[in-house]
Amino acid sequence: MTKSTNNFDVIIIGAGSIGSPTAFYIAKSGLKVLVIDQFPSVGQGSSKRAIGGIRATHSDSAKIRLCLNSINIFSTWKEIYGDDIEWFKGGYAFVAYREEEEKSLKKLLAVQKKFGLNIDWMDKEQFLEVVPDLNHENLVGGTFSPEDGSASPLLATHAFYNHAQKMGAIFHFSEFVEEIIVKDGQVKGVKTSKSIYYSNIVINAAGPWAKQIGQLVGIDIQVNPDSHEAAITESVSHFLNPMIVDIRPFPGSSNFYFYQHSTGQIIFCLTPSPNIWGFSTDETSDFLPLIARRMIEVMPRLKNIRVRRTWRGLYPMTPDGNPIVGWSNEVDGFLLSVGTCGQGFMLGPGLGELLSRMIMKNTNKEDQDILNALSPYRDFSGHELLK
Ligand SMILES: Cc1cc2nc3c(=O)[nH]c(=O)nc-3n(C[C@H](O)[C@H](O)[C@H](O)COP(=O)(O)OP(=O)(O)OC[C@H]3O[C@@H](n4cnc5c(N)ncnc54)[C@H](O)[C@@H]3O)c2cc1C
Repeated sequence: MTKSTNNFDVIIIGAGSIGSPTAFYIAKSGLKVLVIDQFPSVGQGSSKRAIGGIRATHSDSAKIRLCLNSINIFSTWKEIYGDDIEWFKGGYAFVAYREEEEKSLKKLLAVQKKFGLNIDWMDKEQFLEVVPDLNHENLVGGTFSPEDGSASPLLATHAFYNHAQKMGAIFHFSEFVEEIIVKDGQVKGVKTSKSIYYSNIVINAAGPWAKQIGQLVGIDIQVNPDSHEAAITESVSHFLNPMIVDIRPFPGSSNFYFYQHSTGQIIFCLTPSPNIWGFSTDETSDFLPLIARRMIEVMPRLKNIRVRRTWRGLYPMTPDGNPIVGWSNEVDGFLLSVGTCGQGFMLGPGLGELLSRMIMKNTNKEDQDILNALSPYRDFSGHELLK
C-alpha cells in the first residue's frame, strides 16, 4: 500500500466493546477510520467474556449518564438498524439482606435519581413481587431499576462492526500494534506487525492491554488486568426477569451477580476478593463452590440446576473503578478510552458517541462534566461503589 492509502483520520487500537462502537460513530461522522486488532475477529478480547449486563445503576454520575445513553442505543438498535442484539429489558435488582447494604443502596438513590435514573428502594414485600424466588429469610428489600437489562456482547459488538464497515471504517485483524509513531510531541501513526499507517489521532481502546499501549508513547496508564470467572447453566423454564446483584462481601468474594437469559440459561459471575491480577484467561472453575453456595442462599430454587460451562476473562481495572477517558497532555492526538472495569460492554456505545463528538470538536456541557470526572489526570481517590 502507498502512503496515501495508509492515511487515516483516526486509528483505533482494539476492536472490542469500546473500539467497535467508537469506530461506528466516528465513521458515521464522515471520518476515515482504521481499527487494528491482534485477534482474528471482532470482540475476541474481554468483550466476548462479558455476561451481557447493561445498567445505568452506578454510583458515579459520569457512568450513569454514559450508560443512560448506551441503554437508549441498545434498546432501539433493532428498530433503527435491524439487527437483533438480544436486548432484554429485565431490570436490575440489588438485594439487601443486611442493614449495611440497605444503607449503602439507599444512599446512592439521591445521585441516581438526580441524573434521571428510574430506580427505587423497595421493602421486602414489594421486592418479592418483582423477584418472588428470593430467599425470604432476613431479606430487607432492595433497589429495582426496571429500565436496565441485558444484550448479547457478541451480537452487539458484531452489529457495531458491521455498521461501522457500512459507514466506511476499515478493520485489520490478526495485526499487532508494535509502535506508535510520534514526531515533535504529535502522534503520526502506528507501526504494526504488517505495515505502517498514518494518522494524527490514535485512540487507545486496548482494554486490559491499555497500559502496554500507553508505554508505546511513554505514558503510564493506570489500568491492570483483573481476572473474573463466569459460567452458564442448562436451560430451564423462564422464571426470572432482572439481573440479581448481591454486594455483600463474603470471604473469597466481594459480590456476585446473575440473570436468566431469554433462552433459559442462568449466567453468573463472581468478583473475587482479593483480586486475581494478571493476563491468564485459563478457566479453573475454582469459583464454582463459592458462587453456587452464595447463589443458592439467595435463590434456593437454583439448587438443582446444572452448570454447563465456565470461562474466565479480564476486567480492565482502574484504581477507583471508573474509566479513563480523555486526550493525553503529553502526546498530542493520543486519546484514551480505557479502564472500563466490569462495565465496558454497557459503557461502549455511550463512550463511542462521546469520542466521536470529542474528535469532531462538538462536545456539550454534559460531555465536559463527564470528561472532567473521567480525566486521565484525576487523583483516583474516589471509589465506584457498585463496580
Ligand atoms: C466474566 C466477565 C463478565 C463481564 N460482564 C460484564 C457485563 O455484564 N457488562 C459489562 O458491561 N461488562 C462486563 N464485563 C467487562 C467487559 O467485558 C469489559 O469491560 C470490556 O470488554 C472492555 O472492553 P474493551 O473494548 O476496552 O476491551 P477488549 O474487549 O478486551 O478489547 C481490547 C482489544 O484491544 C486489542 N489489543 C490490545 N493491544 C493490542 C495491540 N498491541 N495490537 C492490536 N490489538 C491490541 C485486543 O486484542 C482486544 O481485542 C465482564 C468481563 C468479564 C471478564
